Amino acid sequence: MHFTLDQEDERFRQEVRAFLKAKLPQDLAERNRRGYHPLREDTRQWTKILHAQGWSGANWPTSWGGTGWSPVRQFIFEEESILAGAPAVDTAGFKMIGPVIMTFANETMKAQYGPRILSGDVFWGQGFSEPNAGSDLGSLTTRAERDGDEYVINGQKIWTSFVETADMIFILAKTDPQARQRGISMILVDRQAPGVTIRPIYDIGESHSLNEVFFDDVRVPVSNLVGEEGMGWTYAKFLLENERAFSAEWPRNNAHLARLRTLLNTPQHDGRRLIDRPGFASRLAQLNTDLLALRWLSLRALHEKAGGQVRLPVGSLLKIRGSELLQKIGELQVEALGSHASYVYPDPLGDAQRQRTWPPGPNTAPGIMADYFYRRATTIYGGANEVQRTIIARSFLEL
Ligand SMILES: Cc1cc2nc3c(=O)[nH]c(=O)nc-3n(C[C@H](O)[C@H](O)[C@H](O)COP(=O)(O)OP(=O)(O)OC[C@H]3O[C@@H](n4cnc5c(N)ncnc54)[C@H](O)[C@@H]3O)c2cc1C
Repeated sequence: MHFTLDQEDERFRQEVRAFLKAKLPQDLAERNRRGYHPLREDTRQWTKILHAQGWSGANWPTSWGGTGWSPVRQFIFEEESILAGAPAVDTAGFKMIGPVIMTFANETMKAQYGPRILSGDVFWGQGFSEPNAGSDLGSLTTRAERDGDEYVINGQKIWTSFVETADMIFILAKTDPQARQRGISMILVDRQAPGVTIRPIYDIGESHSLNEVFFDDVRVPVSNLVGEEGMGWTYAKFLLENERAFSAEWPRNNAHLARLRTLLNTPQHDGRRLIDRPGFASRLAQLNTDLLALRWLSLRALHEKAGGQVRLPVGSLLKIRGSELLQKIGELQVEALGSHASYVYPDPLGDAQRQRTWPPGPNTAPGIMADYFYRRATTIYGGANEVQRTIIARSFLEL
C-alpha cells in the first residue's frame, strides 16, 4: 500500500488542472463553490464540455464510451473538479442507472441511452423510496401490471431528487405482488408521461431538489423494462453499491475544508482572524487530520479495488466517515459565520417561482447555511448510516 501517487498520476493531475483552468466557465464555478445545487443548465453545459474532451464518462470503461481511467485517476479527476467548482455530471445517469443499463439491459436499451447519457442529453431521477419504504425498500408497494405490450403503473415515490428537471425516472415497482424481492422489477418512465405528477418538497435551507412523484395509470411500453422481469432487486443492489461508491465524499470534504480555511483566515470587521484563536485553530487541525485519514482510507480502498482484493464493505465505511465529516466541517463553518449564520441566504437562482433577496453580509456567508442544512441528510441518503453499520457488523461476524 502506497500513500503517495506515482509520477504518471501526478502528471495526470496537472493535465486535469490545466483543462479546468481553460474550460470551466467561472460563473458556474462561483455558484458551485458556494455549495448551492447545480442548475440543470449548468450541468448540461459542463457535461457537453467534458464530452467534447472525451471525459464525461470518467467512471465508465472505454467499451461504453467512457475514459477507462483507473479508480485512482477517477479520484484525482473528481478531487480537482470539485475543488475548482465544476458541477458534477448527472449522478443518477452516470453513477446509478447508466452502469445498470450497460451491464444488464439488452443491446437496444444500451444504444438508446448510453450515448445520450454521455453527451448530457438525458437526465434521470431515482424513484426507489416510498413513504413507507426507505431503508426497508423491499416493502415498496408501487405496482406495474402487465397489459398487452404495456405496463400500467400506480403508486407513489418520495424524496426523488432533481426529478423536476429530469427527462426519465428509473423506478422499482412490483410486477408480482405475491413474491417479495423476486416480485420487484426496474422500469424506465418518461417524466412527462400522462399520469405522472411531481410535487415539490422545499427543504429547511429553502431550496428545492426533493419531490413526491405520483403515478396514476401511467402506461409505459414493455420495452422499458430493464433486463428481466423480477430481477429489479438484484439490479438495485448493484446500483446502491455504486451509489456509496469508493471515495464519494472525499473530494467534497476537501473542498468544504478549503472553504472553512478561507473563512478562518479572512480578517473580521475588527481586523482579527478566527484562525488566531486557539479554539478554532485546534478544531481545524482535528478536521484536517480526519480528512487526511479519510483520504488514506479512500486511496487504500481504490488500490484494493484496482487489485480486485476488496474484503471489507469499504463503500459502507467510507459513506459513514465521509458523511459525518461533512457535517462536522459544516458545523465549524456555521460557528465561524457567527451572527451571519442566522440568515440562510437562499439560492437566488434555485427556484424561479420564489423571489430571493439577500440582506447585507460578508461575501463568505451566502451558501453556507443552506448547504449546512442540506448536509444533515448525508447520513440518511444513499442508505442511512445506522443501516451501513449493520452491514459492516454483519461482514465482520460473517453472518
Ligand atoms: C436529501 C435526500 C435525497 C434523497 N434522494 C432520493 C432519491 O433521489 N431517490 C430515492 O429513491 N430516495 C431518495 N432519498 C431517500 C433515502 O434513500 C431514504 O431517506 C433513506 O433510505 C432512509 O429511508 P427513510 O427516509 O424511509 O427512513 P427510515 O427507513 O424510516 O429510517 C428512519 C430511521 O430509522 C433507522 N433505521 C431504519 N431501519 C433500520 C435498521 N434496520 N437498523 C437500524 N436503524 C434503522 C434509520 O437509520 C433512520 O434513522 C433521499 C433522501 C434524502 C434525505
